[in-house]
Amino acid sequence: MTQRMQGQVAAITGAASGIGLECARILIEEGAEVVLIDRDSARLSTLCDELGPQAHALELDLLDGAAVSAMLPRILDLAGKLDIFHANAGAYIGGPVAEGDPDIWDKVLNLNVNAAFRSVQAVLPYMIERKCGDILFTSSVAGVVPVVWEPVYTASKFAVQAFLHSTRRQVAEHGIRMGAVLPGPVVTALLDDWPKAKMDEALANGSLMQPREVAEAVLFMLTRPRNVVVRDMVILPNSVDL
Ligand code: NAD
Repeated sequence: MTQRMQGQVAAITGAASGIGLECARILIEEGAEVVLIDRDSARLSTLCDELGPQAHALELDLLDGAAVSAMLPRILDLAGKLDIFHANAGAYIGGPVAEGDPDIWDKVLNLNVNAAFRSVQAVLPYMIERKCGDILFTSSVAGVVPVVWEPVYTASKFAVQAFLHSTRRQVAEHGIRMGAVLPGPVVTALLDDWPKAKMDEALANGSLMQPREVAEAVLFMLTRPRNVVVRDMVILPNSVDL
């Protein structure tokens, strides 16, 4: 095993499941310390026991704005510093707009957009002062392709892309890199709401990826020379027609 992330501290939101958890795992394997941020405290503590002393649990509801804005000192208390912040947590909603529930849309947009932006704001001044840092988002291929069966989710990820591209240009001069991984469908709890027929078809024709494949892409992004940024990394099952 290589130790390409030795000495680095990462904080990852939505790290108690799916893509965030696998990103935590791969960074720990590579020598990093990781603060796993999630609202699921029971799962967080089980996972941190399993992952060992390089893993730190931070229970936080990302929809609680005040708690998000106050999270940096809690991260520093747990791990001493912060080199990498990964705004990964997100929720999914699909279906026809005409039949949709705008109250559910509000929750998805608040998590995927507002909480992601707020969490980045909470750590940026610290990174600017240190003149170093990496900010990553888990966006989606739906951040660059309007996906017809999920307009609200698509809109949330287009917003992430717009925020990333513009903020990156504000902070690059401070030595901070910003990038996003934009996966196609990945087998996680997020897809529990997919219609069963669609899930069965995707599983049968191999058009789903594993969280590990996303985590490997994130590791690649983080291990580029510091003068190089992978701004957008789209990864798809090769059979997906997007
Ligand atoms: P997941 O459902 O497996 O994990 C999401 C995690 O976020 C869970 O641990 C959950 O407890 C946590 N979370 C949810 N709301 C929270 C809140 N208010 N406060 C704190 N934690 C909260 O999902 P996943 O598939 O791993 O998704 C992670 C990211 O990947 C999301 O941004 C999603 O949009 C993106 N993504 C997923 C897929 C996919 O097919 N699974 C594809 C592209 C992009």
